[in-house]
Amino acid sequence: MTTSAARDSQFGTLYVVATPIGNLDDISARALAILRHVALIAAEDTRHSARLMQHFGISTPLAACHEHNEREHGGRFLARLQAGEDVALISDAGTPLISDPGFHLVRQVRAAGIAVVPVPGACALIAGLSAAGLPSDRFIFEGFLPAKGAARRARLEQVKEEPRTLIFYEAPHRILECVEDMRAVFGDERQAVLARELTKTFETIRGLPLVELHEWIAADSNQQRGECVVLVSGWQAPEGEDAVSAEALRVLDLLLGELPLKRAAALAAEITGVRKNLLYQVALERQK
Ligand code: SAM
Repeated sequence: MTTSAARDSQFGTLYVVATPIGNLDDISARALAILRHVALIAAEDTRHSARLMQHFGISTPLAACHEHNEREHGGRFLARLQAGEDVALISDAGTPLISDPGFHLVRQVRAAGIAVVPVPGACALIAGLSAAGLPSDRFIFEGFLPAKGAARRARLEQVKEEPRTLIFYEAPHRILECVEDMRAVFGDERQAVLARELTKTFETIRGLPLVELHEWIAADSNQQRGECVVLVSGWQAPEGEDAVSAEALRVLDLLLGELPLKRAAALAAEITGVRKNLLYQVALERQK
């Protein structure tokens, strides 16, 4: 099995293969063919993946490639690839490397001049985004937030004014406190979506302002179970603020740090040429 990247090389190819995030029918025909064909499957958890392989009647040997051994044991897989054998990399669910191991191995393999070929498929963040009804033309994926409250809020503060749709992974036992912190940092009215148990029996996709989403999750313990993606609408500039350039906002913020609001707005208007009244309104919003 070759691709244009792999053809003509005496080396094997590393295939990065996506597996289902719940519904087993989501595995692609190409993924199955590659998993059958390769000499070895590097798996995050061999016992977990053995069940998937058994389900599809695949008998290719599995070898562990997880967070803790990926750097040291990468050489093992590299040696097999250098010997001309094809290897597949899989994780427990979804796309390897996406909040999952594989990055170090892929980097090592590419650095050795060996072809790395993606075999795309399920990915929870993309599945969630595709059905959330939030702007999907531009988004950022923040992965898992820190487990501790203070660090989590500090991370949320960093993306508070991010205009693109925000996507987070979260563990079920932290979902309530996570959404509570989002509410505190982003404000009650920011639109958010909880995408839970995607592709599985109890799939739930619910979009509400953060205040209501938080109350809904708090009131129903079922919403605190299973796997979840949280998507949050990007920050929208208050009325008028989007008409002010980033440079004018920077000047205004600097002056607001030193002067009373009215004086700061007047001086910023003189420096930047933006209307004084507009900057005054923006300054009021920014100091709320
Ligand atoms: N590599 C995976 C992917 O491509 O999405 C992600 C692996 S990460 C260790 C696991 C996290 O992904 C879960 O804690 C959850 O946030 C999210 N996730 C995985 N499967 C999911 C599903 N079926 N529904 C909702 N979220 C899911």
